[in-house]
Amino acid sequence: MTTTRFAPSPTGRLHVGNVRTALHNWMLAKKAGGKFLLRIDDTDNERSKEEYVIAIREDLAWLGITPDGEERQSQRLDLYEAAFERLKDAGRVYPAYETAQELDLKRKVLLGRGLPPIYDRGALELTEEQRAAKEADGIQPHWRFKLDHGSPITWEDGVRGPQKFDPAQLSDPVIRRADGSWLYMLPSAIDDIDMGVMQVLRGEDHVSNTAVQIQMFEALGSAPPAFAHEALLVGREGKLSKRLGSLGCDAFREKGIEPEAIIALLARLGTSLPVEPIADVNALLETFDLATFGRAPAKFDDAELERINTAIVHQMAFSDVADRLPEGMDEAGWHAVQPNLSTIAEAGEWWRLVTGPIEQPGFSDEDRAYLAQAAQTLSWSDDPWHALTDALKEATGRKGKALFLPLRQALTGMDHGPDMGELLPLIGETEARARLERAAAKS
Ligand code: GLU
Repeated sequence: MTTTRFAPSPTGRLHVGNVRTALHNWMLAKKAGGKFLLRIDDTDNERSKEEYVIAIREDLAWLGITPDGEERQSQRLDLYEAAFERLKDAGRVYPAYETAQELDLKRKVLLGRGLPPIYDRGALELTEEQRAAKEADGIQPHWRFKLDHGSPITWEDGVRGPQKFDPAQLSDPVIRRADGSWLYMLPSAIDDIDMGVMQVLRGEDHVSNTAVQIQMFEALGSAPPAFAHEALLVGREGKLSKRLGSLGCDAFREKGIEPEAIIALLARLGTSLPVEPIADVNALLETFDLATFGRAPAKFDDAELERINTAIVHQMAFSDVADRLPEGMDEAGWHAVQPNLSTIAEAGEWWRLVTGPIEQPGFSDEDRAYLAQAAQTLSWSDDPWHALTDALKEATGRKGKALFLPLRQALTGMDHGPDMGELLPLIGETEARARLERAAAKS
């Protein structure tokens, strides 16, 4: 069974890039009939906040990306400790005592000489006595994972194809801070093994982490999962923008974007499949395939999201939206205004044309006489609008704009809007006649 996971650190709200990663992992699992886990990577005590854990759960629920289980790294520390002891005994982790400033200086010296800033393994040179002396001075070590330089690290990436890294060109990663807290890499590998995660899909900013983690899986005695790294999301201008990094579900909700629109866009953005307003996630699942993912950055465009949203709003059934519509708006009301909406919240604005009060423009004498005639002509039937306009056309010889516009303006106060044939029955006979008479009388 395929198990995937989405592993956010609860140090902030989810942004659109995180949502995309979550969605794709969920889709991978659903498509394979497998399991999708939410793993909260909360080992960083200082920066992890419960409010963000809650917000992550709520955002996923709103999007319909429902996890089949949730795990928290902060509740799994014993497991990490045990694995750490094993790796220590095997010589795969080692203590290091450099301060942040010392490390920074080493990096600068290497960069100054035009060399890659790879950690020099200075800590491995220390003798027992030197280490004891550091600790006697109260310096607690941080811990690094010792990469095996023996052979290149390779994997077949689900998006990027064959990958190859020379471990000697990578720094031994710090896996644990001096205060004993964990960086995400080793716990993540331990969890992926323990939770049976077989497929890891994440952003391409993690590619070099994957090289390192592949050695961690091996050191822990397990085969690594299949890895795939998707190209990052960029703004329309083609750059990683600050704005995208903070654009999340709260902003989408506020703008009236439906979760289905976000899903439809993100499911296919950056793939060779066309982005289409597909509201049925099962239809998206059918075509979902890592093989369609491109390597060029995926361009996120708000205007495209809005277009998809509009198209999806136009497909929604009354029963899907009934509890979000204004008081009193029934299925006929929804049907009348739906083609004019780009968000569901706008239904309220159009519904006011039915419930009133409306503000009418001023009319010429000629139009007022015409509207007086309309008030008299108005008769109620299944289709009062066409009955009215047919009769007026016949009686006045008016046509086109001269026939319709004064009526629309008198009945709704606006020059444009939903189909009058649908609106007029909703306005009702008494109110419609009153509006026509009021417009006729106004000077
Ligand atoms: N918590 C890590 C992150 O948010 C997880 C990365 C991963 O998916 O393995 O970057």
